[in-house]
Amino acid sequence: MKVCVLSGGTGTPKLMQGLKRVIPENDISVIVNTAEDTWVGGLYLSPDIDTVLYTFSDLINEETWYGVKGDTFTTHETLKKFESNDFKELLRIGDKDRALKMHKTHYINKGYPLSKIVDMEREMLNIKANIYPMTDDNVETKILIKEKDEEGNENKVLLKFHDFWINRKGKADVLDVFYENSNYASAVDGALNAIENCDFVIIGPSNPITSIAPILSIKDIKKAVKDKVVFAVSPIVGDSAVSGPAGVLMKAKGYSVDVIGICEFYKDIINTLVIDNADKDKIDNIKCDVVATNTIMNSLTDKIKLAKDIIVGYKSLNEK
Ligand code: GDP
Repeated sequence: MKVCVLSGGTGTPKLMQGLKRVIPENDISVIVNTAEDTWVGGLYLSPDIDTVLYTFSDLINEETWYGVKGDTFTTHETLKKFESNDFKELLRIGDKDRALKMHKTHYINKGYPLSKIVDMEREMLNIKANIYPMTDDNVETKILIKEKDEEGNENKVLLKFHDFWINRKGKADVLDVFYENSNYASAVDGALNAIENCDFVIIGPSNPITSIAPILSIKDIKKAVKDKVVFAVSPIVGDSAVSGPAGVLMKAKGYSVDVIGICEFYKDIINTLVIDNADKDKIDNIKCDVVATNTIMNSLTDKIKLAKDIIVGYKSLNEK
């Protein structure tokens, strides 16, 4: 069975740790959000791609869902000592993690498409799954906020996701979210083939606004996904996101922060929404097929069980 997964960098990678133990890894294709890619201190950062690479190579730091477990920080600490007015070490990047980022930066600067670089890294890390950036073009998530200046005047400000989430720690009055340049971006060929050739698509429990919507903002991808059977796993349990800013951003986009809002968000592309048992009382108000199970992935057993439940859900939908 071939499965194509749409992924951000925390919730869906947890599910993939389970999925790769349920079906052969080379039958898994992952299309990864790149709308949070950015340059910091001369390094090209592709946070979700790196998390997916580290997840499949069993290197991921599961405390943070970025970087390499057990990494050292010698370069970071040394660079901190070199800081001056116009030289700043802005992010705490581990030594091994920095090596992967330097590799990417080298080839980006040489003009290689990101998909080719990711494929080289996938091979270097001995990963059997197919991993595709959603696009080789620059698509960037921008967060529109309002804030008061020193005189008390209200201004609208357009932030990069990194500014919103890292520098402001997500504390802002969000008005809207955009995916800059997505109208002009095209999907990576391999990603489109992976969607066409899979049995079904899984939208993992990732942030719908900042991880999945950017992927679906690429027209070719949305069109290809619409033709497939699609299961989505809700990243919202009860009335809040398991982690991160999904709740506040869904609210800003006019959706209720619960499984009903998630179904509304995905309604034109999904067949089945996988919700947590804790939300069973809302089933009557969800306007698509539902599978209810435990979706909180604390242990590897939880992750494998959720992956199996999705496969069983797909098989029983197929037999109908
Ligand atoms: P990001 O790129 O770091 O924002 O990561 P993702 O978008 O892939 O994942 C963030 C989303 O994962 C959040 O909205 C969380 O609510 C969700 N999430 C994290 N862990 C879990 C989990 O164990 N179960 C479920 N259902 N959702 C989770």
